[in-house]
Amino acid sequence: MRASRLFVSTMREVPAEAEIISHKLMLRAGMIHKEAAGIYTYLPLAWRSMKKIMQIIREEMDAAGGQELFMSTAHPAEIWQQSGRWQVYGAELWRLQDRHGRDFCLAPTHEEMITLNVKNIARSYRQLPQLLYQIQTKFRDERRPRFGLMRGREFIMKDLYSFDRDEAGLDASYQAMYQAYSNIFHRCGLRFRPVEADSGAIGGKGSHEFMALAESGEAEILYCTSCDYAASSEIAATPPQGTGSGEELKEVEDVYTPDCITVEDVANFLGVTPDRVVKTMCYQADDRLVLVLIRGDRQINEIKLKNILDCFELQFAPDEAIRAAGLVPGYLGPVGVKEIKIIADSEVPLMVNHECGGGRESHHFLNINPGRDYQIDLVDDIRLVRGGEPCPHCGKALAMARGIEVGQVFKLHTKYSKVLGARYADENGQEKDMVMGCYGIGVGRTMAAVIEQNHDDGGIIWPMAVAPYQVIVIPVNDRDPELMTLAEKLYQELLRQKIEAVLDDRPERPGVKFNDADLLGYPFRVTIGKKAKEEQLLELKERATGEVRFLPFTETVEFLKQVTGNK
Ligand code: ATP
Ligand code: MG
Repeated sequence: MRASRLFVSTMREVPAEAEIISHKLMLRAGMIHKEAAGIYTYLPLAWRSMKKIMQIIREEMDAAGGQELFMSTAHPAEIWQQSGRWQVYGAELWRLQDRHGRDFCLAPTHEEMITLNVKNIARSYRQLPQLLYQIQTKFRDERRPRFGLMRGREFIMKDLYSFDRDEAGLDASYQAMYQAYSNIFHRCGLRFRPVEADSGAIGGKGSHEFMALAESGEAEILYCTSCDYAASSEIAATPPQGTGSGEELKEVEDVYTPDCITVEDVANFLGVTPDRVVKTMCYQADDRLVLVLIRGDRQINEIKLKNILDCFELQFAPDEAIRAAGLVPGYLGPVGVKEIKIIADSEVPLMVNHECGGGRESHHFLNINPGRDYQIDLVDDIRLVRGGEPCPHCGKALAMARGIEVGQVFKLHTKYSKVLGARYADENGQEKDMVMGCYGIGVGRTMAAVIEQNHDDGGIIWPMAVAPYQVIVIPVNDRDPELMTLAEKLYQELLRQKIEAVLDDRPERPGVKFNDADLLGYPFRVTIGKKAKEEQLLELKERATGEVRFLPFTETVEFLKQVTGNK
């Protein structure tokens, strides 16, 4: 490709809308064009990189026994109604109607459709297992599309679905995919970590997320520095720790606590530490209210809470709803509450003589004891674990890091096969539910994660495997015919060797060409300048290390054949 023909327009300025580096660099390098919030055109440079990522994915999926197919994007509502997800998926499901007024959605994922396809074809144990995948556009009407390709509303995903005879088969498929995912992200040049994860709207039990480590990541990872425990903060759990254990139960006191709204206010006012206070919150789960109790210095993990409540929508109850239930916002507490269900984090029953809201304006109770002074309807782990807490496996302190979820693997078991009737006849002719798994990778998000991890002030530093082009050839003076002839000769030779080269033939100053080369992140740059004329030496510079070597023509080609893997 000649730079003069390349369909790209680079930008020096950082576009205001971009918050994170990969988004800024993709815009500056002319890789993407925004069409609407969370909806992008992939321009040629981005598309070349994405095609390489997709190729790596295909190779690893095929090697693990996958077969590629391509399902439709528009799904009739009926199949989603059959699984119950027409309702469960909520506002994220992009719904539309055809000219006859029939409901459809643009698929955010394909469990329903693939299950119905497999149900139609596979009837006998002889036809299982099946590993079927596609690389296809998904739609999710995200609440906050942002960070460029990281969280789009329209994005490309690889999704594979496994169908096995039994749990042992699922374990094998899951393991094969887990390994394939590790291979894929490794080949893409990512530093990543698989972590235990929540299953979210996909459902099922047993899941790992593959997290590319990056400060800008939206996900939090808790990991142990002395054993191999690692989990997403969505599910991380550590043993409960109470307060005041061993103390004698004291008399309840009702104290006047004006203007004490937050736990800190109360703790300061009463002269105790926040871990002695029980924080009470009122949530609205679909159309019912629940009171939720947690130790004052902890945070609620709303993903855990939502899973326990098994609801579609979870939010803080508005003040009017709290008042209508006879409670006082700001001074909520469990004592005397009868009509509303009380859910407590596992630490609360272990708290002796705790303080809490008094249930009336400007009042708190001291020395409250669960069981004696109030009853809890449901105790479960609803706590958000933070760094420094003990590892659930070995007890050492957990560390926290941020990550970008580039892929996720799920064990679905029989969640979809049961409701959609995907059954097979076993060796004895007995009907059984197929046992399923599903496995997704975001292609655009993976590319964005690669940039998050590989850049400097000058721009992108592409790992060779996913670079849009491998080498740029820069003649420093486009009006010097001798240099131009040599550059052209090298360019042609590189193409002949199947090396993906760009010749910067633009009538620009060398500084402009160098800056663009850095911004676009070519792994290698060959500069053809004075030394080429005087000593027949070409300057070869590696983008990642900045290392420069001077080599004669033939050695330059040989070297580039080696580093691009085209030997
Ligand atoms: P998140 O928690 O980030 O919303 P998710 O868990 O809902 O993602 P999955 O259903 O596991 O996503 O989808 C599989 C993969 O698809 C993700 O690991 C991610 O790489 C990609 N992906 C999901 N949502 C988006 C999105 N809105 N934009 C780009 N890629 C996405
Ligand atoms: Mg996920």
